[in-house]
Amino acid sequence: MRTDAFALRHIGPSENDLQHMFKTIGVDSLEQLIYETVPDNILLKNPLNLDAPLSEYEYLNHIQELGKKNKVFKSYIGLGYHPTVIPAVIQRNIFENPGWYTAYTPYQAEIAQGRLEAILNFQTTVIELSGMEIANASLLDESTAAAEAMALLFDVRSREQKKNNVCKFFVSEEILPQTLSVLQTRSTPIGVELVVGNHETFDFSNDYFGAILQYPGKYGQVNDYAGFIAKAKTAEIKVAVAADILSLVKLTPPGEMGADVVVGTTQRFGIPMGYGGPHAAFFATKEEYKRSMPGRIIGVTIDTNGNRALRMALQTREQHIKREKATSNICTAQVLLAVMAGMYAVYHGPKGLQYIADKVHNSASTLADALNKLGVYQTNAAFFDTILVKADANKVKAIAEKQEVNFYYVDADTISISVNETTSISDINQIIFIFAEATGKDSFTVTELTTANNLPKSLERTSSFLQHEVFNNHHSESQLMRYIKKLERKDLSLNHSMISLGSCTMKLNAAAEMLPLSMANWNSIHPFAPIEQAEGYQIMLKKLEHQLNVVTGFAGTTLQPNSGAQGEYAGLMVIRAYHLSRGDNHRNVCLIPASAHGTNPASAAMAGMQIIVTKTMENGNIDVEDLKAKAIEHADNLSCLMVTYPSTHGVFESAICEITQLIHDNGGLVYMDGANMNAQVGLTNPATIGADVCHLNLHKTFAIPHGGGGPGVGPICVNEKLVPFLPTNPVIKVGGDQAITAISAAPYGSALVCLISYGYITMLGAEGLKKSTQFAILNANYMKARLENHYPILYSGEMGRAAHEMILDCRAFEEKGIKVTDIAKRLMDYGFHAPTVSFPVAGTLMVEPTESEDLAELDRFCDAMISIRKEIEASTKEDENNILRNAPHTLAMLTTDTWSFPYTREQAAFPLDYIAENKFWPSVRRVDEAYGDRNLVCSCAPIEAYM
Ligand SMILES: *Cc1c(COP(=O)(O)O)cnc(C)c1O
Repeated sequence: MRTDAFALRHIGPSENDLQHMFKTIGVDSLEQLIYETVPDNILLKNPLNLDAPLSEYEYLNHIQELGKKNKVFKSYIGLGYHPTVIPAVIQRNIFENPGWYTAYTPYQAEIAQGRLEAILNFQTTVIELSGMEIANASLLDESTAAAEAMALLFDVRSREQKKNNVCKFFVSEEILPQTLSVLQTRSTPIGVELVVGNHETFDFSNDYFGAILQYPGKYGQVNDYAGFIAKAKTAEIKVAVAADILSLVKLTPPGEMGADVVVGTTQRFGIPMGYGGPHAAFFATKEEYKRSMPGRIIGVTIDTNGNRALRMALQTREQHIKREKATSNICTAQVLLAVMAGMYAVYHGPKGLQYIADKVHNSASTLADALNKLGVYQTNAAFFDTILVKADANKVKAIAEKQEVNFYYVDADTISISVNETTSISDINQIIFIFAEATGKDSFTVTELTTANNLPKSLERTSSFLQHEVFNNHHSESQLMRYIKKLERKDLSLNHSMISLGSCTMKLNAAAEMLPLSMANWNSIHPFAPIEQAEGYQIMLKKLEHQLNVVTGFAGTTLQPNSGAQGEYAGLMVIRAYHLSRGDNHRNVCLIPASAHGTNPASAAMAGMQIIVTKTMENGNIDVEDLKAKAIEHADNLSCLMVTYPSTHGVFESAICEITQLIHDNGGLVYMDGANMNAQVGLTNPATIGADVCHLNLHKTFAIPHGGGGPGVGPICVNEKLVPFLPTNPVIKVGGDQAITAISAAPYGSALVCLISYGYITMLGAEGLKKSTQFAILNANYMKARLENHYPILYSGEMGRAAHEMILDCRAFEEKGIKVTDIAKRLMDYGFHAPTVSFPVAGTLMVEPTESEDLAELDRFCDAMISIRKEIEASTKEDENNILRNAPHTLAMLTTDTWSFPYTREQAAFPLDYIAENKFWPSVRRVDEAYGDRNLVCSCAPIEAYM
């Protein structure tokens, strides 16, 4: 046996544990367990056809070699992506730190105060730089954020506008090309008509509900939009502005001009370009639109003792994601990147940001002056960091590429040059040299930056920003390192204990999978660099697409979607395009079982589909009779079925092939939600069950860390009939030959983190992947065997087995005054993060251990659950002062001089032996959800300011 096989590191239980686990479950072998779990007719006959696995060492060598095929040129391309300096203290202590990147979305606020504070810093940065009232905790990228802005403005139309079906949306021709493409994708199905034009000649007629402007424009022109926004307001047209975050340090914020929404990316705040992502987009708006705002909002509230505490505000809203009434399906966002961008603002503070913005602006001005001297004229009337010059593009390109420099070539004689934080005087001199050579003039050098101001006087920022102490007190590295550590210690992540979140698949994020993200050859490539400079990426991404095709049994993959929900949307849009291509314009009914995740109906609504909900039976399975009746009733207009497999109840329904056949017989296609793919890989696949398209959550099944709520990657894999419709990108052509317009800003979505999934599959190989699935099922069934005498298990398969997760029914405990949240909070005292609470069934916990957890950890969790069960037994409805209802218990409670609870301190904080050795202390008492929603505060200002 090779002891360097990665599978041995990835999979928790060892060979020695197996007999004990089998005995507990009541099977003789893994094969028997799988036989009793997965329906026979869908089992794969052959192993996955993948390359032999590499060890960690071999993989790291391979990826280093492959990285050399990526050429890191100086990038002045701009268009929303800029080289930036990642502060080393942030790279080492956040980006490369499992304490940060393995955390889950902060639903359990008491053990997530650290990242909640970090995101609050991000929101504060966005609010203050944009001049708006509220901001969310990040969106997926600038282009989708712009589409969310359009959707919000459409949603908040006046009653009059809705009555008159006012549906035109003006898009300035200054908008980034990728944003225009995403707006096209998103507008059509919901009935919005885009009109692209020049904002100066816009007629402000009353058939428009909104407009979007780019600030500065795509090639750097800085326009004063105050007049436009004022006129729009009079005409009842609401205005969104896509803004460059760094320029807002020097420019009048759109909020001060009266904008209704401001969006953009925070990539240049210390996030590597990574060939397209992941980066945190921002979304800021006015208070009055808070209930329509997409995504998550971190808000300030109080805990049981009245102390300040943070939490996700309006959070019940997200759990339902408004289903069919949704205007957005955002679930996973870009939390880790938002944390980093917020920390970049903490690291630099207002003075540091000012310095960087000045330097960038002065570099652009210096360059403009120098090129002017060569007779290369700069044509932007005003600019921040990007100049637009007239020169022979072909000539310049040939010389620039020899010098390993990329500009953006607008047309044969127009070139856009965007400078950035990393641009030095010698870089400027190199550019001068290139243009001198191209124009046949003598080159010269500059030695210092000019301080000439090329911003319009009327747009100089006068308001201060980031005055809060957090942005002014952490400027030495010791201070910042300790601040980051202080926050990290408040958060429970996978480096403390298992996080058994059903449906979310919190598995190992191996160090070897993560290391390559820090390599310059991988993280410093602009997404619109000529593809021959990104050969390493092209090879890696093609291979990953191929691997995912093999795993799903499908013919084509796009990596564009930046989350599972974006994948759903992409898949439905591809289905829509397929029906349209056949002249079946009327096929727009989408069947969705009642048990579906909220993003399913939300995505279908965004794709303009009519949603028909089908029934779930008593045992949790799809009611095939009801489905059949509805498929037949809607046969003429049937577009598709969305189905999760194994089901959100953690069961391999044996009727699945019958179900997919039924849909096909009635002219529809089948969309499979792949969130539960961890129960399928290597055993069965979506093609085998009869699906036509699925999304995969690479941040669940394929080892990308959850990052505290993102990044995510949600590729879709499709069969042959749908390959032609896979999405394209307006700058770098990708996708099928009848491609739909862009789903995301970047051609390959978040290419950088695709390395993680590539590493995962490459190191596990066919055998390791299959074994991972088998062990995920083994671990779940082991826990089921240990817990089923203590908690009712809601659903199981026909032979009594769970798939990779199970639902513990906690509803009966309400008789004893114990709610499912009390159990979730009490688990914190035992050092564990709660399983998924109340999804897919209210009042339950959904447990998914994954294959990465070893037997001892599974046992600790089961022991904790069993011990809590005894505490529940001892509870009574009248007894409010009880150990569960008071949970979690903080160190401050334990160490008060007076202890007034009717149980001991030891019972409160150390109820089982294993805890003392590795105690995790929740940093606040239970947070008050209602208080925070009534008093929505989502920036760093002290809470007293709002009381
Ligand atoms: C996680 C999940 C989704 C959404 O995925 P995101 O990446 O968070 O957008 C959709 N469906 C199911 C069943 C899920 O578990």
